[in-house]
Amino acid sequence: MRLGGIVDISTKDIPGRSSMVLFTVGCNFKCEFCYNKYLLQPNIGREYEIKEIIDKIATNSLVSGVSITGGEPTLQKDLLDLCKQIQKIDKYISIDTNGSNPDVIIKIVPFINRVAMDLKGPLIPGKLEKIAGVKVELDKILETIKFLNDQKQIDFEIRTTYIGKLLDAADIDEIITFLNNVGFSGNFVLTQYQFLEGVGDEYKKIFSKPEHDILVKLIELYKHKDLFFKIFLRDDVVGYCSINELK
Ligand code: SF4
Repeated sequence: MRLGGIVDISTKDIPGRSSMVLFTVGCNFKCEFCYNKYLLQPNIGREYEIKEIIDKIATNSLVSGVSITGGEPTLQKDLLDLCKQIQKIDKYISIDTNGSNPDVIIKIVPFINRVAMDLKGPLIPGKLEKIAGVKVELDKILETIKFLNDQKQIDFEIRTTYIGKLLDAADIDEIITFLNNVGFSGNFVLTQYQFLEGVGDEYKKIFSKPEHDILVKLIELYKHKDLFFKIFLRDDVVGYCSINELK
């Protein structure tokens, strides 16, 4: 497995758990706002034997979980083997994905506990491509969502990063309506875009951080709607908060 880095302990990647974070290299999307751009270069980092990774996790008694992020983890050929081995040492496993690779998700599901899927925008031809910077097979993303939604043992989170230049209120409504129509029953998280070093200086002026009030306005109208799922906001004012607790 090719990793660009390992964080020994994080309390932010899996809600309510301390976890080790594995950053896989490479992605099939090219989002301009990606804050892990260095991971998109194929030769960054190094190859790890699964045993080496497992030894690292097993000897870290401070974490109860492992978050596999990237990059796009489903592109790693030995992801299934890694998940099987982590399960054997009894750690909670969370995978981040852009949802474009349902075949891999289907294979690994028996060995993992959580999926956090980035839904970059509404499943409208052309819209997602613009955000992801590549051609996106919408039916694959739909397949991933529908499959995971049926796996009631999996903690399933779908999150959308809000960037004013790429999305608007109609897009968020489209996403929320779509998720409700497919009976999504996990958590939907509207995430604030924040500039981080990894985005690259040249994007500093292109994308700006949406303010808290703007984000609240986008989701507060769903507070009293009868939805199958819960909506959360993640930003620099409230941290991670359910819309029902927003003031
Ligand atoms: S899908 Fe994620 S890792 Fe891939 S380019 Fe987009 S933001 Fe970066």
